[in-house]
Amino acid sequence: SINKVHSFQKERRVRVFLSRMAVDVGSSGDWDGRWSHVQKFLERSGPFTHPDFEASDETLQFLLETCKILVIGAGGLGCELLKNLALSGFRHIHVVDMDTIDVSNLNRQFLFRSKDVGRPKAEVAADFVNSRVPGCHVVPHFKKIQDFDESFYRQFHIIVCGLDSIIARRWMNGMLLSLLVYEDGVLDPSSIIPLIDGGTEGFKGNARVILPGMTACIDCTLELYPPQINFPMCTIASMPRLPEHCIEYVRILQWPKEKPFGGTYMLILSGARLLINNLLLFVWSLCPTTYGVALDGDNPEHIQWVFQNSLERAAEFSITGVTYRLTQGVVKRIIPAVAAYIPLNNYLVFNDVDGLYTYTFEAERKENCSACSQVPQKLQFPPSAKLQEVLEYLTENSSLQMKSPAITATLEGKNKTLYLQTVASIEERTRPNLCKTLKELGLADGQELAVADVTTPQTVLFKLNFTS
Ligand SMILES: [Zn+2]
Repeated sequence: SINKVHSFQKERRVRVFLSRMAVDVGSSGDWDGRWSHVQKFLERSGPFTHPDFEASDETLQFLLETCKILVIGAGGLGCELLKNLALSGFRHIHVVDMDTIDVSNLNRQFLFRSKDVGRPKAEVAADFVNSRVPGCHVVPHFKKIQDFDESFYRQFHIIVCGLDSIIARRWMNGMLLSLLVYEDGVLDPSSIIPLIDGGTEGFKGNARVILPGMTACIDCTLELYPPQINFPMCTIASMPRLPEHCIEYVRILQWPKEKPFGGTYMLILSGARLLINNLLLFVWSLCPTTYGVALDGDNPEHIQWVFQNSLERAAEFSITGVTYRLTQGVVKRIIPAVAAYIPLNNYLVFNDVDGLYTYTFEAERKENCSACSQVPQKLQFPPSAKLQEVLEYLTENSSLQMKSPAITATLEGKNKTLYLQTVASIEERTRPNLCKTLKELGLADGQELAVADVTTPQTVLFKLNFTS
């Protein structure tokens, strides 16, 4: 009988619970007390609120009705962001993500289920939140951030990033800087769209607030990121000096050429069905596409292939030091997602590798930041310097860290591409320029060089200063 009582009580608890769930949802999707948790900190001040904070019910109204927020990335951080924003009352949310769901995402990207594997993250995440949170409207974009222009980004009040790439962060940062309006050199504050950037790697994480044009931007603190390994094609192709050059040769030139793990094979039906001697035959022909299997840094067989071939190339040039580990490091280009009661000013670091450690600091603006300072950038080289040295400077200088800069100059009224790496045919045509001196290329003191790179949507202008 005790069991009976227990099961009765349990049943009753479930019924009470369910009746509480069946709340009256009005046309606005709101019910009594729906936002009381948010109201507690928006409609009253406390000992830890900012001195400028004004408690008011208008904030919640703004958040519910007006505020348009953009979430970039629907991965590990993005899922948390979308859930938290939706449950905090944000209703006009857009999310951009170019990835599809992989089975390995399911352990932490909790808006996805195994049936969703292969589908776009942005779409599945939006569907999930929209069906779960009444009144919330998430608009998915299965695209790259670079697919949108200024008019798209300008519509948002705030942008939150949960990205895993430094290049994408820098591009986003550059985009928001390009939206700033200056009148007589004074920044129009209404043109500022705040950027909240988060990153995680293993047990480490960080969050920062960027007011473009006012506080430190991503590029101001680029030294916080480990410099990337990047070698000029000229060196890789013809004069390797380091073990890394040999690995890069195999990765960039040899792999796509030899397609060691085959191409992507497509089955194409030719002749459809043939009826021979009453036997129904399906005839298929194998048609390999031109695409080789992409080099996967997590595939030990791929790394082994690159390692073996790098060893051979290194032997050819009497270079030592190529190891399996170095090969993996170069191939994977491990890009760590870098990694307050007064509103976060402006950088929070979180680390729970050994116990828990967290601190905040204020990242400072860099006076001559190439992204946000409006100060023309100088390139100081002797006329005898080779273009390759300029390229090395652009990629290796810790505050520039460009990835594959394209350098253009205006010579005799014409735009001339001095070097461009991203298009194979142009790379081949302009490669000889790398070994020429600036003087041989016809560049003069004071010459302006326009540099385009994947790290920024804007072309960066440099002024060449000849040193003797
Ligand atoms: Zn900056």
